[in-house]
Amino acid sequence: MKIGVLALHGAVIEHIQTLRSIGVEPVAVRLPEDLEGISGLILPGGESTTMRKLVARWNLREPIMAFARSGAPILGTCAGMIVVAKEIAGGEEPVFPLLDVTVERNAFGRQLDSFETELLMPILGDRPVRAIFIRAPIIERVGPGVEVLARLPDQRVVAVRQRNVIAISFHPELAGETRIHRLVATMAAEFAEPREGIAAAGTEPWSLGEAM
Ligand code: GLN
Repeated sequence: MKIGVLALHGAVIEHIQTLRSIGVEPVAVRLPEDLEGISGLILPGGESTTMRKLVARWNLREPIMAFARSGAPILGTCAGMIVVAKEIAGGEEPVFPLLDVTVERNAFGRQLDSFETELLMPILGDRPVRAIFIRAPIIERVGPGVEVLARLPDQRVVAVRQRNVIAISFHPELAGETRIHRLVATMAAEFAEPREGIAAAGTEPWSLGEAM
């Protein structure tokens, strides 16, 4: 099974290595035709304004919207979370309006612009997730169809899912954390082959079972 990583800018290599480490074939997505044959897509961290410009320049906006609307799993991390939000605080135009949330960019201010912590993310089991935040966004409004997957101790929302779209404020790929990629791989297998995907869960190298 193949999962794409939008490879225009940002923390691309780290996602490619994480996918490889769990037995998924990574595909660097730079052109619309790179979306053919993949069963999921990761939008990495970086700078959302740069990603916005490059997505427009390479005519990727409509093809990625269509790919997401087809039900394929999408994972946005950090800047990737910003680009999948329907609303960006301050009024910037959304890039891929897929997730009914409002995000605030650089929500931790200058004094705390990068930090590491452990978070509980019940969908991944009891072991906390090592979360690295780098000039990270926060979700300040969660729409009705959106499930909260993780919060900071002060209750601010840092991970959500709406159907096939997952967005997280932090960088699992920089912390050696593979369970989020495994979750996306499980969703991608179910998307690619609905029955076999479920039947295969637990036996594939990327399946969550062992990792939890
Ligand atoms: N601060 C960046 C932005 O606003 C996101 C940072 C990141 O992806 N690590 O786009």
